[in-house]
Amino acid sequence: MKPLNADLHCHSTVSDGLLPPAEVVQRAQANGVELLALTDHDEMGGVAEARAAADALNLRFLDGVEISISWGDDQTVHIVALGVDPGNVALTQGLAQVRSGRDARAGRMAAELDKVGIHNAYEGALKFVSNPALISRAHFARYIVECGHAKDTKTVFEHWLAKGKPGYVEHSWATLEDALGWIVDAGGTAVIAHPARYRLTSTERRALYGAFKDLGGLGIEVLSGSQNEEDVRDLARVAREFGFLASRGSDFHGPGESWIDLGKLPDLPPDLTPVWSRFI
Ligand code: AMP
Ligand code: MN
Ligand code: MN
Ligand code: MN
Repeated sequence: MKPLNADLHCHSTVSDGLLPPAEVVQRAQANGVELLALTDHDEMGGVAEARAAADALNLRFLDGVEISISWGDDQTVHIVALGVDPGNVALTQGLAQVRSGRDARAGRMAAELDKVGIHNAYEGALKFVSNPALISRAHFARYIVECGHAKDTKTVFEHWLAKGKPGYVEHSWATLEDALGWIVDAGGTAVIAHPARYRLTSTERRALYGAFKDLGGLGIEVLSGSQNEEDVRDLARVAREFGFLASRGSDFHGPGESWIDLGKLPDLPPDLTPVWSRFI
């Protein structure tokens, strides 16, 4: 049987994507996606519009969100929540709390960027923001490209915004315990987003997987736009060893600004249990 074309990780203008929720859905369907989750950062303001658009196209849809958490020594980890109740009070209050730190963090980033000659970055980044509660490094990256300092946003991250670079500032997001608590309370399925992107030692990595599992975490993104074939092999082994369900998500942010387009990832290794077995 042909595997389902599921894409369970993408962004809209409600966070740092380039397309409004309904356009993300339309593009997904045009690309052959059969099950979609919209997973904006720390914010579920787009899921009602996306679900309405998906219903109109007869596309199966999951309400989702990508929650920023802090793990260990100033390591940011992203947890994707799938099939959550968007009206759940613990989740909505938790997400509001995570979002509330973003504006002050953006001010601190702008102050650091100013010292290295990138001026007015807070105001500049805001020009690219649709939802003022959700200013992200991606918005700063677009402003820095617009200023002519770099040819694309990936280059901006390499020079200014990645951990250890001049515009990076430390920040406390949610704890893993809190995020898993909200997701479980909201009836959702928790998935570790793009595990290969975290700079962790193998001991730290195993500690993360173990703690996540102990708190009710069920899945990992074996396939993500930002992971290569070797990552996929490693993560398939992790899924087998820890008994995780396997997820597949492009992490699409917009045309021309993404690793891969919606619905274009390869199939999961066939022996893994897809996370969408819980939903279809
Ligand atoms: P924030 O949540 O504000 O820390 O921003 C994180 C976002 O920045 C990610 O979700 C991506 O949209 C973007 N991002 C992070 N690293 C990179 C990178 N190396 N290249 C392009 N975009 C990136
Ligand atoms: Mn993003
Ligand atoms: Mn992420
Ligand atoms: Mn993402």
